[in-house]
Order: sequence, then C-alpha cells, then structure tokens
Amino acid sequence: MSSPWGKVTSDPVEPRSFQDVMSEQLAADLEEKEVLKEWELVSQAEVAPEINLATLTSGMGSEDTKDDHMLAQLLQMEFDKEHDLEVKAREKKYNGDSKVSLSFENYRTLHPAYRDEEDEVVPNLDEDYEVEMKWDEKPPTFNSQGTSGKGKDMITKHDSSVCGRRNASRMMEFPPEFEVGDGEGMDMKLPNHVYNKLKLHSIAENKRSQKLHEKKEHSTAEQAMDPRTRLLLYKMVNSLVLDSVSGSISTGKESVVFHAYGGEIAGEAMPKEVAIKVFKTTLNEFKNREKYIHGDHRFSRDDFKKQNPRKIIKMWAMKEAANLNRMKKFDLQCPVVQVQRKHILVMSFIGEEQKPAPKLKDAVMSVEDLEDAYSQTLEFMKTMQHKCNLVHADLSEYNMLWWQEKVWVIDVSQAVDTTHPLAMEFLHRDCTNVSKFFRSGGVHQVKTPEELFNYVTGLDISGEGADFVAQVRRYDKEKSEEYLLCPTNRKQFSFDFFFDKSQRERAEALKEVGFSDSEEEEIENKNN
Ligand code: ADP
Ligand code: MN
Repeated sequence: MSSPWGKVTSDPVEPRSFQDVMSEQLAADLEEKEVLKEWELVSQAEVAPEINLATLTSGMGSEDTKDDHMLAQLLQMEFDKEHDLEVKAREKKYNGDSKVSLSFENYRTLHPAYRDEEDEVVPNLDEDYEVEMKWDEKPPTFNSQGTSGKGKDMITKHDSSVCGRRNASRMMEFPPEFEVGDGEGMDMKLPNHVYNKLKLHSIAENKRSQKLHEKKEHSTAEQAMDPRTRLLLYKMVNSLVLDSVSGSISTGKESVVFHAYGGEIAGEAMPKEVAIKVFKTTLNEFKNREKYIHGDHRFSRDDFKKQNPRKIIKMWAMKEAANLNRMKKFDLQCPVVQVQRKHILVMSFIGEEQKPAPKLKDAVMSVEDLEDAYSQTLEFMKTMQHKCNLVHADLSEYNMLWWQEKVWVIDVSQAVDTTHPLAMEFLHRDCTNVSKFFRSGGVHQVKTPEELFNYVTGLDISGEGADFVAQVRRYDKEKSEEYLLCPTNRKQFSFDFFFDKSQRERAEALKEVGFSDSEEEEIENKNN
C-alpha cells in the first residue's frame, strides 16, 4: 500500500467507524481534564525511592513517557503552556504601565496547579502586534432591583461569578494586618463560604495581633510568609484542599510549620488536622551555589547551571515528601504526606486539637516511658538503615515527637540515602545525639555512640571518639568511590551533596558568631 508519507509495509489497521474514534477522543479529553484538575498529589506509588536529580528538575520527567497517552498529555500541556504564555504577553501589552489592569486569566487554558509561573519568560511580541480580542472593561452595574442587563443577558447580583469577584475584591479590603496574598491584578473569584471563613479569620487575627502588640511580642510567622506562599495556601483553601489555616506552630531556620484543617484532595477526605511545612524561599545560601560544585569532579556543574534557588527549595520539599513516603512504606511512625506543591508540604498532623505532640526533649516522661522510647528508637534506626536505606542526618530529641506512647520521626528533608558519601558520618552523629539524650534521661544500659553505630549498621568498626570517626570517614570514602564508578549513580548525590555543603557552611557561620546549632534552636523555641 502506498501513502503520501511513504510505504506502509505492515498490515493495514482495522477500519473503525468515525463515531468510535470520536468517542475515544472524547473520553481521552475528559480524562485529561480530570488529570489536569488534580493537585500534584504525591502518592506513595508515584515517588520512586531514589530521587534522581535529572528527573526532578525536568519537571514532568519523572513520568513514564513510554505510554503514548501520557506522551500526548505532556505535549498537550506544553502546548497549553505556550498558549498561556502568549495570553500573558497580550495581557501585559494591553495593560502596559497602567495601575488599573485587566486580567486575561480566564483565557488561559492550563490549570493553575500545572503552571510554572516562576520560569515564565514572557515572549516579546512584535511592536505592531494588535490586540484584537475584546475584554470586558467594567463590572456590570445593578439597578435598584439588583439586576443588570435585559432579557436573556440579564444577571442578578447573586450571579455566582459576579458574587465571587465581589468577594475577591472585598478580600483586598481586609485590614492590612491580615495578609491576603498577592491577589491584585488577578481575576479572583472567591466562593461565599470561603469569604466568610477568611473574614472570621481576619477578625480573630486582628484581635490576636492587638493582644500581641500589648505584650510587645511579634509573631514572625506572618512576616515569614512571602506573597507566593500566601497565594499558594490561598489557592489550596479556595480549591477546598484545605479547610482553613489556623496559624504557625513553629518557625525554624529553613521552614515554617503551620497547623491547618484538612479539606479534600481528588475527592478523598484528608486527615482532619494537617501540618503544612513551608520551606523558606529567602535563603541566601543558595545564591552562589555554583561554587559548591566547582572543583569537585564528582558533580557535574551542568546539573546546577539551570537551577534557580526556588527550584532548589522546592526540591527540599520534594525530598522530604519522598523520604517520608519511603519511611511510611516500612511502617515507621512518621507523618503521612498529603500534598506537596512547590516549596510547600502538607502532611498529617502529629498531635491533637492544634496542639502538636511534644518533642522528646520537652515531653514529660517517666523513666519507663523513656526506656520504651529508647528501644523504639533502636528499632526504627535499624529499619531506616536496612529497609528504607536512609540516614536521618538530623536525628535528635528535637526531631522525635512523643505521641500516644510512640516515638514519631519528623524533619527528614535532609535525610540521605545510605549510599551518600557522608552517610555513615551522619549516622555516627545521629548515634551520638541519641545516646547522649537517653543517657542523660536516666535510661539504663544505653549504648555508646560507637556501639549504637555498629548495632544499627551491622558493621564492626573499632575504636572510640576521633579514632572511630576517622575510620567511619575512611569507610564512607571507600564505599562512595566504589559507588561513583558507575556514572548513573553520580547524579543522585548532587542534591544531597549540595544540601550537606550548605548545612556545613551554615554551621560554620554560626560558630563564628558564637552559636551552636542547638543554641540557635533553643532561641527559636523561646521565641515561638
Ligand atoms: P525544622 O526543624 O526544619 O524547622 P521540622 O520538620 O522539625 O522543621 O518542624 C518544626 C516543628 O514543627 C517540629 O519540631 C514540630 O514541633 C512541628 N511539626 C512539624 N511537622 C509536624 C507534624 N507533622 N505534626 C505536628 N507537628 C509538626
Ligand atoms: Mn526540626
């Protein structure tokens, strides 16, 4: 058989009716809409146990593109992205420098969840490019009966889209203390129930802030939230993923944690209470990131050339989500990941009625409780090591919570794969913290850090203190050299390596000003 595209050698395809094809296409379209509607739900199955930098950074790269359907969807998304960029460019051109701007938001096709706004480079349209589309310039005005227009064009002031927009503009009138997010310049619609909730929250928040002023205290949480974060959280509330955001429960060096009431995601109810970990986007550490890579032959500089700090911070959230999923897979007591969007991680809340479970360091525990906690700790350290292939790398009484007689492990964004070049050194540090804490708590027969290390790893490294550490380092070095002989393994280290480097530099900077890490944490805890 011949065709304009060349010779077809294989058997001809079975003829199918036009109707069949159409309905198939329709089904595909509907499905695609469904997919686009969903939030970036990090399900256990979706996050591969190994985070590969290359796949993380290429956005959709982690999907399996063998599937034609998936490929088609990816292409469609790229196409939509392009379309949206053009709409955005038109919007920009149309509005110019004018303070009053019209939003072309409704003409964009890609679901907001899939837009990668920060990467957008608005294309430069030709100067003589004419904006042909007609945009509504004024909101409708209503007569005394509350209607506008005539005949079938008539709308009432209860019209949901008008109502929603009115709510959104009311939101911008909230008192300045209440951070509403960067809604200006956007065509925002706010359902009535959300508006009412935000309004109540605003009033409460106002009262609270007055009280705080009286006490000459300031919560830094609100200030720590940048407009992007507020907007993302706002979107989560607006799309019913979250029911409401209550307030911050912790302000740390790299993150702020909020309590919230869960809504629903992809039609399924979330846990009633959730914790939202927002990774800070203002870190300077990442600005000169190239220097971390430079001169180290193990890490290709290309990996980071295209990285912007926001992407890196987003990767922390992804990394924490992936690590938590890996841990949950082996039934460790840790938060369950709900959603991860950009630099925000929503997980189940450990605690009750807005009160987070106490850290081991703060928990009121009997010696029996502590002994129980110690044996639980030994267990999960082993599971972490041998089943999850992870080293926590920041394990201490600060990152273990005591809840319902169980030790819960949190804060795993820095946790590394056991193949990381410094994994064993980190593990030794974890062991030191754990031993010290339980020993000072009066637990009998606490292993020394070295004993604990050998117990967890199953290795038999001898010596003590500095000598032991030197041996652990040598072990790490040999192990990773062997591992790095395989080029595909190299990339996996990049993120861990990078993170570790920034941690070290921060620790050194703190030492210079006479602070140790835990002292800083103390100070922050007092401020909370
Ligand atoms: P970091 O120490 O990097 O600031 P963490 O993940 O340790 O971040 O979170 C800081 C604090 O927030 C924790 O000490 C804990 O009190 C609280 N927290 C974090 N995640 C949860 C959670 N899932 N449930 C309850 N409280 C949490
Ligand atoms: Mn912590």
